[in-house]
Amino acid sequence: MSRKNSFLPIVFFIGVLLACTAIIAMFLHHSARQAVSAVSATHTLVIDAGHGGIDGGAISADGTKESDINLAVALRLEQIVRFLGQKTVMTRLDDSKKTDILSYSEREDLKSRAEVANNASNAVLISIHQNYYPTAQPKGAQILYFPAEGSEKLGRMMQTNLTAQLDPENRRLAMPAPKDLFLAENTNCPAVLVECGFMSNNFEVLKLKEPVYQTSLAAVIAASYMNYIAESIPI
Ligand SMILES: [Zn+2]
Repeated sequence: MSRKNSFLPIVFFIGVLLACTAIIAMFLHHSARQAVSAVSATHTLVIDAGHGGIDGGAISADGTKESDINLAVALRLEQIVRFLGQKTVMTRLDDSKKTDILSYSEREDLKSRAEVANNASNAVLISIHQNYYPTAQPKGAQILYFPAEGSEKLGRMMQTNLTAQLDPENRRLAMPAPKDLFLAENTNCPAVLVECGFMSNNFEVLKLKEPVYQTSLAAVIAASYMNYIAESIPI
């Protein structure tokens, strides 16, 4: 599969280095030195950048597509987790597919994403999305965890880290994903959906569009994943 990451600016790579420093600091704080040295690549992180192609997801007042922010955060998450020596699989790498309105089927799209997770060995699925509300006030990241074992633990850890590292005033809690969420119903690995912020809040959209903030989000998500798998590996 061809990669189209070359457009990412140099600031991204600097951001990744800073993010990795932050990750190591978080490891040392949370789960001990062993986490840095002993996390072998036993799991596969399946990264799902929500929407894409003709499905832009939620659209902000300034016309920003949720699908673009999802992809930007997902690509950063992939780079950081690979830098840390872990295996990753992406459900999409760019915005080039599913562009034909006549052949597009949301159900088929979600089915193919679920298949990627179900075919990966020892998978953990992280689906990246943005939230939307009819009024402009709501803001803040929120994790929705899936029913499979391990999901709630990962989700609570990630919610705590996102709040502590990026938005201490955020009072949202990790919640179970709605029962009718296709990916939650059709995958069986530990999995969470990250609502990084609200496309309906103009102030939050400005942040979500910033490459440095996207890298920060990815770094905290990556650190939470690393903590989760470090705690899943018998010592
Ligand atoms: Zn979405």
